[in-house]
Amino acid sequence: MFFYGSNDKKFKKIFDMYEHSIMINKKFNPKSIAMKIATIYLLVGCLWITFSDRFVHIVVKDASSVTLIQTFKGWFYVIATSIMLYMIIYRVMKEKEWKEKKLLESYEQIEFTYEELIAAEEDLEQQVTELQKSQKALKESEERFRLAMEGASDGIWDWDIINNKLLFTRMKDLLGFEEDEIGNSIEAWKSLIYPEDLQRTNEELEKHLKDQVPYYENQYRMRTKDGSYKWILSRGKAIFNKNKKPIRMAGSHEDITHYKIAEENIYRLAYYDSLTGLPNRTFFEEKLAEALNEGKKNDYKVAVLYMDLDNFKNVNDTLGHMYGDELLKDVAKLLKKVLPPLGVITRLGGDEFGIWLPKIVYKEDIICVVESIIASFQKPWILGDREFYITATIGISVYPEQGKDIHEMIKNADTAMYSAKENGKNNYKFYTPEMNKQLLEKLEMKNNLRYAMKRNEFLLYYQPQIDMNTKKVIGLEALLRWNHPIRGFISPYEFIPIAEESDLIIPIGEWVLKSACEQNRKWIDLGYPPLKIAVNLSARQFQQQDLVLTIRDILDKTKINPELLELEITESLAMKDLNFTIEILKKLKKLGLRISLDDFGTGYSSLNYLKVLPIDTLKIDKTFVDDIAESKREKSIAKAVIDLAHSMNLMVTAEGVETEDQFFILKKLQCDKAQGYFFSKPLPKEKLEKLLKEGYAQ
Ligand code: C2E
Ligand code: CA
Ligand code: CA
Repeated sequence: MFFYGSNDKKFKKIFDMYEHSIMINKKFNPKSIAMKIATIYLLVGCLWITFSDRFVHIVVKDASSVTLIQTFKGWFYVIATSIMLYMIIYRVMKEKEWKEKKLLESYEQIEFTYEELIAAEEDLEQQVTELQKSQKALKESEERFRLAMEGASDGIWDWDIINNKLLFTRMKDLLGFEEDEIGNSIEAWKSLIYPEDLQRTNEELEKHLKDQVPYYENQYRMRTKDGSYKWILSRGKAIFNKNKKPIRMAGSHEDITHYKIAEENIYRLAYYDSLTGLPNRTFFEEKLAEALNEGKKNDYKVAVLYMDLDNFKNVNDTLGHMYGDELLKDVAKLLKKVLPPLGVITRLGGDEFGIWLPKIVYKEDIICVVESIIASFQKPWILGDREFYITATIGISVYPEQGKDIHEMIKNADTAMYSAKENGKNNYKFYTPEMNKQLLEKLEMKNNLRYAMKRNEFLLYYQPQIDMNTKKVIGLEALLRWNHPIRGFISPYEFIPIAEESDLIIPIGEWVLKSACEQNRKWIDLGYPPLKIAVNLSARQFQQQDLVLTIRDILDKTKINPELLELEITESLAMKDLNFTIEILKKLKKLGLRISLDDFGTGYSSLNYLKVLPIDTLKIDKTFVDDIAESKREKSIAKAVIDLAHSMNLMVTAEGVETEDQFFILKKLQCDKAQGYFFSKPLPKEKLEKLLKEGYAQ
C-alpha cells in the first residue's frame, strides 16, 4: 500500500511540474508583450499629442513660455517614454530570464523525478511479480488444504462466538443426522454430549477461552442418531480481540471410537482376568497402593486378604480343567456376594484371590468378613453332574501395623496364608513376624534337601502289610525318612512336598526305588522269605520320560523279580492325565510289577475310572478306617468299596489300622490286607529283620 501511495505522489509531482512549466511558457508570449508595449506607447503618444498642448495653454498664459515649454515638451516626451520603455522592456526581459531559469530547474526536477519514477516502476514491476507468485502459492495451498480436508477423516468446526454460530463439516454426518436435524449453535452441540462428559468439556473450553491454556483439546462422547455414543477428539484455538475477549474459535474433530475401544480392551487385558472377570494382580498392586495412601491420609487401617483354595489342584487333576475353571468363576461370584461394598476382590492367578478392605477401624470388622468368607464355602458345590466340597484358607496383613507398603503387605498376607495352610487349611491367620521364621525354615529345608542325599541323610523304614486271614507279613511298604543332622527325623509329610516343588523328588525317588530293591536283594540273599515291597511314586516322577527304563534297569541290576516290586500311585496322580497314566501303567505292568492305588477315597473322582486303570490293589485311606468301628456310614462305605474292588478283581489293603476292632470289622468285610500301627509302625531294617526272624513272615 505504501508503495502505491508513494508512487502516486511522484506521479502527481511530475504532473504538477509539467503543468507549471507549460504555464510558464504560456505566460511568456512575445507577441502579446510586444503588442502590449506598442499599444501603451501608441496610447500615451496619442494622449500626449492631443492633450499636452491644451493643458499647457490652460496652465501657462504667457505665449513665449508656451513656445519654450512646447520645445521642451517634445524632449520631455521622448525622454519620459524612453525611460518608460526601458523599464517595461527591462522588466519583461528580467521576468523572461527568471522564468527561463525556473523552467530549467523544473526540467531538471522532472528529469530527476522521472528517473525516480522509472526506478519505482521497476520496483513496482518486481513487486507485482512477487505478488503474482504469492497469489499462486496461496491458491495452491488453498487447494491443498481443501483436498486435505476432503480426504482427511477429521472434520472442521468454526464457532462465531459473537453471533453464536457453529459450523461443522462431517460432524452431523458422523453422528448420522441430517443437516437440519441439529441446530448450528454451541447449545445444540452440547445437547448431544454424554452427560458425564459435559462438565469436563465445559471446563476445558472455559480454560482456553480464558486464555489459561494455549489450545483446547478434549475427548468426549456424543450421541448418534441411533442413540449410541461415539468418542470424539476435539482440538481448537480461539481468536481474541483487543480486549482479550474471544470472538471466534475453530478447530478439528475426529472420531476416535475405535481407538477408545482398543484402549479399553487393552486396559481390560492388562487389568482384568479373562476367566472370572475380576481385576488381576496388576490391578491389585496398583490400586492397593492407592488404598494404602488413602488409609495413611485418613488414619484408617487397610486389611489385605490373601486367599487360596484348598486342594484346588485335586479338582483340576481329577475333574479336569473345565471344572476347575467353572469353580473359579463360581468362587468369584460368591466372593462378590459375601464381601462388603467397599471390599475389592482380585484374582492373583491360579486359585489365589487378593482382597483388600479399606477404611477399617476395628480388627473385629476384618474377622467378621473373613469368617463369613470361610463360612460361605461350607456348602456343596455343584458343577455339572458333580457335587463336592472345597474350602479356602486366608492370610491377613493389616496396614500399617503389618506392612508399610504393598510389597510388604502382600508378602506378609501370603506368609500368613501359608502358615494357615500348614495349620490344617480351611482357616485364616493374621500375620505375625514369627511366620517369617517358619518360612525361612522351609527355605532352609529346601536348601538342606539338596545336600541330604550326598550326605547320606536319607534312609528307608519298612512297614509290614499283613494278610487278614493268616495275620502274617506278606509285604512291606518302603517309607522314606530324613535324618537331619540338627533337627533329627523329619516327617515325609513335611519334606516330600518341598522336594516335589523343586524337582528334587526325581533323584530322591530313584534312590528310594534302588535302595528298596537292593535291600530286598540282601534279605533274599540272607535267606528271608521273599517279600513284595511297595514303593511310593510321586506325580513328578510319573511324568519322567525314562521312568520305565529306570525301573527296568534297577530290577536288572538288583536281580529282583518284578513281581516283588509294587508301585503306589495316588488317585490325583492317576487322574491328572488318565490316558497318559494308562499308557505308562501298561508299560510298567508289562515289566511284571504290581500297581496299587494309594489313599483311595480322598480324591474327588468317581469309581468309574477304576475299570480302565490297569491296577492290582486298592488302598483304602486311613480316614475311612479311622471311624469304621464307630460309624455305620463309614463301615458301609468301606464295604461298598471292598465289594466293588473285588468285583473288579482288585485286592484291597486297609491303611492305618490301629485297633483290633478295626481289624475285625475289616476282616469281616473281607478286606485282603491291612497295614497299621495295630501290627507295626514303619521300622528300620534291623528292627524289621528282628520281626521277621520272630516268625511273623509267612
Ligand atoms: P502314605 O503312602 O499314605 O503312607 C502311609 C503313612 O501312614 C506313613 O506315614 C505311615 O507311617 C503312616 N501310618 C501307617 N500306619 C499308620 C497308623 O496306624 N496310624 C497312623 N497315624 N499312621 C500310620 P509316613 O511314613 O510319615 O509317610 C507319609 C507320606 O509320605 C506317605 O503316605 C507318602 O505319601 C509319603 N511318602 C513316604 N515315603 C515316600 C517315598 O519314598 N516317596 C514318595 N513319593 N512319598 C513318600
Ligand atoms: Ca503309600
Ligand atoms: Ca496312603
